[in-house]
Amino acid sequence: MAYDYDDANIFAKILRGEIPNDTVLETEHTLAFRDIQPKAPSHVLVIPKGKYVTFDDFAENAPAEEIMDFMRAVAQVTKQEGLSTGSGGHGFRAITNAGNDGVQEVPHFHLHILGGRVIGPMVMQLRD
Ligand code: 5GP
Repeated sequence: MAYDYDDANIFAKILRGEIPNDTVLETEHTLAFRDIQPKAPSHVLVIPKGKYVTFDDFAENAPAEEIMDFMRAVAQVTKQEGLSTGSGGHGFRAITNAGNDGVQEVPHFHLHILGGRVIGPMVMQLRD
């Protein structure tokens, strides 16, 4: 079954300019903006402008040029936010949630960049 992109999702509306956002970086194929409910002092969402539902959709189907643009944008954001260990920062966590079990709220692929404090354990211990 193919990935089913929903044009009504909130990030599609942001990309169409229908909803405002706090942009930190825009490139040809990528947009990075602040999360509306930040979970850390620095919480930036990096999204491709193309219509990809999840990380695996993007990884499988995006042209190399878009993937390269996205990855370089991530690096630029970590520098701009003062998080990159290569530029004297203290590091960050990059998270992407996919689908039901990944507890993805917005069905347009996005990478969360979280930093500015120690982020804590990777995942909570789950119980059935
Ligand atoms: P997910 O759970 O899909 O990985 O994360 C979705 C993220 O999008 C959440 O952290 C949520 O706070 C953020 N978000 C939802 N709606 C908006 C919005 O309208 N603007 C911005 N900037 N972030 C949003």
